[in-house]
Amino acid sequence: MARYIFVTGGVLSSLGKGIAAASLGSLLQQRGFSVKIRKLDPYLNCDPGTMSPYQHGEVYVTEDGAESDLDLGHYERFTNTNSSKADTITAGRIYLNVIERERRGDYLGATVQVVPHITDEIKDFIRNDSQDVDFLIAEIGGTVGTDIESVQFFEAIRQFGNDVGRDHVLYIHLTYLPYIATAGELKTKPTQRSVKDMLSHGIQPDILLCRTSKIIEDDEKKKIALFCNVPLERVISAPDVSSIYMVPINLHNEGLDRIVCKHFGLTSKEPDLSGWKKFTKTLACPEGEVVIGIVAKYSALQDAYKSLNEALIHAGVANNVRVISKWINAEDLSPDTLQEAFEGVHGILVPGGFGERGIKGKIMASSFARANKIPYFGICLGMQVAIIDIAQNLLNLKDASSTEFGPSPHPVVGLMTEWEKDGKRELRTESNNLGGTMRLGSYPCVLMDKTRIASIYKTGTISERHRHRYEVNTTYKNDLEKVGVVFSGLSPDGKLPEIIELKDHPWFIGVQFHPEYKSRPLSPHPVFVAFIQAALNQSRLV
Ligand code: GLN
Repeated sequence: MARYIFVTGGVLSSLGKGIAAASLGSLLQQRGFSVKIRKLDPYLNCDPGTMSPYQHGEVYVTEDGAESDLDLGHYERFTNTNSSKADTITAGRIYLNVIERERRGDYLGATVQVVPHITDEIKDFIRNDSQDVDFLIAEIGGTVGTDIESVQFFEAIRQFGNDVGRDHVLYIHLTYLPYIATAGELKTKPTQRSVKDMLSHGIQPDILLCRTSKIIEDDEKKKIALFCNVPLERVISAPDVSSIYMVPINLHNEGLDRIVCKHFGLTSKEPDLSGWKKFTKTLACPEGEVVIGIVAKYSALQDAYKSLNEALIHAGVANNVRVISKWINAEDLSPDTLQEAFEGVHGILVPGGFGERGIKGKIMASSFARANKIPYFGICLGMQVAIIDIAQNLLNLKDASSTEFGPSPHPVVGLMTEWEKDGKRELRTESNNLGGTMRLGSYPCVLMDKTRIASIYKTGTISERHRHRYEVNTTYKNDLEKVGVVFSGLSPDGKLPEIIELKDHPWFIGVQFHPEYKSRPLSPHPVFVAFIQAALNQSRLV
């Protein structure tokens, strides 16, 4: 039977519960155990697909097409396993499930209540399909003591401990110790308060992970242990680090994985941390650097492009260079500012996006990279703008556009229904609430022999994750090929362009999918690795 580890948070949000859960998952995995990590979010949206990246950071997409919280990305990156729809839920979805059941009459007229109906639904989600793993780690979103939406989750995980037996659960509480410079001290009272809040829900944390800006001295640890009723060795110091990828090693040095195994009475080998050590060593002291110009709409908000940023870091380490991202607001680009904006840039990347805002700037960026032979990587919308640029400037179709931005006389990007009579895409997964037409999750793609992309992937068929509605219009395929576009990756039925590249260009690739979702620190994505390699070559030219 699985052991269940619950990760809760106190004092502040954004302390890194997701990274802590993911790091523990990795350590247990390196000890030879199998691990699943799940996220329970307290907000009432039924899924994060429609939430603004400004508020919630990126929407992470799983293999099976779940639009999820970005923490699932951390879990995948740290444990190198794939998450699924069954690993993410929100309070909204829990309530919807219960209310739909009530409407169907499944409760036979019983009074439907938070306890037991909502809490049972939460427990079922946690338990579902967990019998085959050694550890199920469940991260509870929100902050204890402040968010009323989280209360039902705390109640559910309290009950869970009784249901499966206390020897099969472990409660980890992530908390924060502020440093007060005038007193020269780390303060423990907010942590004491937070543990009291957990106790008020009937949960005594077994382990405290204490986030701080400084190492916690033994005296402070003793005080926390005493006031929070936790053995001294279970007060774990989690100081700020320069990279999230250092967290597994730090937590191991603090004894976290050993203590977890001891708690459950398990013996195992020491974890193999050689991969993490090698990665973090190169990350800290790479031999060179490259500058990537990223042209985007939410350029001020890093969390909106979480997986992209991480994929660039992974590819940088693989090339032994630091990747410096130069964020360029697409709306600030104009023919007059282009040259200056890309000064000193060794590669240009246009990431995914929705809506017309900033689109002109993105087309200009792609055009600039094409004409100046600067490595270009277009992801999803980034591939679509490349096609629009080529149509406008090489095919001379001045009004070429995507129908996403309104009707166009030359819809080089659009919905398949617009150019094929029975233009229905086979959609295995669909967005629930965005009109049901979004292509989500992983789809296969056949690569054309002897193309750049085939030499990068070193295989004939790949599978990558999607999140888009529009497609490159194959009506224009022949014309685009005549001006040097190679359709180097297509859906197996040949109807959907998945990858384009340019013939007479050092490195110009557009992909309709999001390769960043599948990049992991210890297994970087080949297209990102090749792009950074091309940027590195470019940096040697200038
Ligand atoms: N807005 C475009 C579409 O829906 C691109 C989406 C994306 O970049 N993820 O097709």
